[in-house]
Amino acid sequence: MRITLLFLVCLAIYSTSFSWSQKREVTVVIDPGHGGQDPGHVSENKAFATEKELNLKIAMFLGGYIEKYLQNVKVVYTRTSDIYPSLDQRVTKANSINADYFISIHCNGNSRKSVRGTESHVHSMSLKKSVAMAREIEKQFSTRAGRKSRGVKDKGDLQHSIQVLKYTNMPSVLVECGFLTNDREARYLNTTHGQEIIASAIFRGFRSHITKQHPNISFKRPENEINNNSSSTVNGAYSIQIMSSKQPVDPKDSSFRKLKMDVQRTKLNTSSAYKYIYTVGSYATRKEAKAALSTVRTKGFKDAIVIKQ
Ligand SMILES: [Zn+2]
Repeated sequence: MRITLLFLVCLAIYSTSFSWSQKREVTVVIDPGHGGQDPGHVSENKAFATEKELNLKIAMFLGGYIEKYLQNVKVVYTRTSDIYPSLDQRVTKANSINADYFISIHCNGNSRKSVRGTESHVHSMSLKKSVAMAREIEKQFSTRAGRKSRGVKDKGDLQHSIQVLKYTNMPSVLVECGFLTNDREARYLNTTHGQEIIASAIFRGFRSHITKQHPNISFKRPENEINNNSSSTVNGAYSIQIMSSKQPVDPKDSSFRKLKMDVQRTKLNTSSAYKYIYTVGSYATRKEAKAALSTVRTKGFKDAIVIKQ
């Protein structure tokens, strides 16, 4: 009798721990490189956006695709506005939430203007999972996105590439989306179309990798759910972030008056110094938000961006 009871207790403990070990969702940290006072690479053509701006745009497209097309994937960004989290903060954020994947988005530069193409960096070629994810992304760049892929590289050239890859505890890849010092590539990366294609190639590579890694999780969001989502996001799925600040600023402050729009202040639960974001508008689709964005920018908020609420 006692043995039977002991057996049942053991079985109960075993089955509980077994179900705990079965992952139900994965978390990916998307890290738009640079930001704030650190612009990253810049194009010779001053009309073009700097690397920090392009990284953010591509990162937001990537996160948007993951949220729209996949289920059971949690997206966390290291930044969603023009701020500079230190490399330490980016790494700590990913490690502290036990993220499963880390994808850093960058654009490249070279003193030789003819150099072009995409690269995916890993800390070391011996890190099989990072290498596998990087290969999937580069494969998508060359086959689906029609980019020149320069392949998967390890450690390598850039100091910033080393720190976020070296100290993150999970499979991590730093994607260089193209060279801003190459005129043709800079031009491409400065178009919304180019940013979307690049982001969707990274998305496809990521999706293909996680699908193979976690056969027990169903990632594909049902088609009808995707359609429902886009038609039911009537009241404000998107808004425009006009700025962020360390100290709270009154939303009725005179500096906002020229916008002639209600400004909403939100306090973020973040380790970043910039805890407050200020948003205007509420739009059903990203397209609508983008249309309003240009007006907001012309009213003095040049760095305004569209965010998902
Ligand atoms: Zn960079």
